[in-house]
Amino acid sequence: MSMNLVTLLYLIASVCFIQALKGLSHPTTSRRGNLFGMIGMAIAVFTTVALVFKLGAEIATAGIGYVIVGLLVGGTAGSIMAKRVEMTKMPELVAFMHSMIGLAAVFIAIAAVVEPQSLGIVEHLGDTIPTGNRLELFLGAAIGAITFSGSVIAFGKLSGKYKFRLFQGAPVQFAGQHLLNLVIGLATLGLGLLFMFTGNIGAFAMMLALAFVLGVLIIIPIGGADMPVVVSMLNSYSGWAAAGIGFSLNNSMLIIAGSLVGSSGAILSYIMCKAMNRSFFNVILGGFGADADAGAASGSTEQRAVKSGSADDASFLLTNADSVIIVPGYGLAVARAQHALMELAEKLTHRGVTVKFAIHPVAGRMPGHMNVLLAEAEVPYEQVFEMEDINSEFGQTDVVLVLGANDVVNPAAKNDPKSPIAGMPILEAYKARTVIVNKRSMASGYAGLDNELFYLDKTMMVFGDAKKVIEDMVKAVE
Ligand code: NDP
Repeated sequence: MSMNLVTLLYLIASVCFIQALKGLSHPTTSRRGNLFGMIGMAIAVFTTVALVFKLGAEIATAGIGYVIVGLLVGGTAGSIMAKRVEMTKMPELVAFMHSMIGLAAVFIAIAAVVEPQSLGIVEHLGDTIPTGNRLELFLGAAIGAITFSGSVIAFGKLSGKYKFRLFQGAPVQFAGQHLLNLVIGLATLGLGLLFMFTGNIGAFAMMLALAFVLGVLIIIPIGGADMPVVVSMLNSYSGWAAAGIGFSLNNSMLIIAGSLVGSSGAILSYIMCKAMNRSFFNVILGGFGADADAGAASGSTEQRAVKSGSADDASFLLTNADSVIIVPGYGLAVARAQHALMELAEKLTHRGVTVKFAIHPVAGRMPGHMNVLLAEAEVPYEQVFEMEDINSEFGQTDVVLVLGANDVVNPAAKNDPKSPIAGMPILEAYKARTVIVNKRSMASGYAGLDNELFYLDKTMMVFGDAKKVIEDMVKAVE
């Protein structure tokens, strides 16, 4: 395979990746986006394997077996995990995958430092690695190590299954933490520069060890509520690590794909921060979730009276309304109630009620979570509205039906400047004439806060699992 053909194929794969990102930005085109991503990755893998052959008979025969075994093992494990994973567990899976990308970058960097001739960085064993390549290897390895250990901690915190203190949702904080992070960060940088200027392998090894520690230290002070933003940020880091390694290996595909992942991850983190009213720089520096969890402890202790009703009462209100806005949240995903909800919406529409769905950018546990959920149930896209497009309509709406959502409709974000979510844009459900909220109890949402919406005179709580409650509503509407 000639180098021109390799470049051309990499270019085609890159265009596919760009098309994938473009497609994934809207539910109507997301399947096409996924398809482009798969085609791009297949071309990239095929070309890279072909390139291994081109590098020389010795490497090709010795290495290709490992490559094929790696592809089979990785591909099989990835497919099984992706097939089995529940939507609500997606952020954990993504965190796990980022940790693997980070580790891959570290392994490649170590291989490149120890045997640069095998990767074509120098001609013969013993030749000095050029300074520019050493810089790229330092950056790729350091970011990869931070991504790996940070993602492992994020995975543990998101899964909530492990007793280990560092894997708990509550932030781990101690005096002088930021100073320690700064010192370790500077030491990592110093050792990296030492490696860059002198090629000292000891400095590289120490730099790598410190970067692993730094990854842990950056993530442990962040509370569980902010973890999805962190996952998106680590996604960005993993892209930059891959791009850094791509420069060392002179592999344009890795550079392009890494940069796409790096920049799209950074943009996504920024969008999520804006949607949650978090400072982007605090996320990058770590430890920004502590406040939210401080609020968590104080929020949910008070016992206050609420109005509650049955699924039948709710159906009565819904069928007598002209307009209904449905606000789906994390609880809807947990209950897997999207199909029942679709049935309810169809029945209401059939009876002449105008039904719309309102999506908050951080409803659920990852960006786009609710869009995917509703798409699964084949809710027509024209009925689904983003927050900024529908917020002005709540004031003229008869009934808002909040299903397993909590923080994203909490008026404290607007009314209470001391609230940990103060300033976070919310779906203004409280403006509707009547509000129906379904959840199982008065327990708080992810941010751990009490919600004034539940105590309003116009609000009726319908307690129970979302699927059961919605199915009962469907029967009552019939
Ligand atoms: P919340 O976590 O605020 O609330 C979900 C509610 O669902 C809970 O109060 C819970 O109450 C209820 N619930 C759970 N299971 C069920 C069930 N089976 N049936 C009915 N109700 C159920 O979710 P939101 O979607 O409103 O908000 C998302 C939160 O996640 C926000 O705090 C957001 O900042 C955070 N987040 C989201 C990100 C994203 O990208 N989407 C990123 C980062 C953070 P009960 O236990 O009483 O049933």
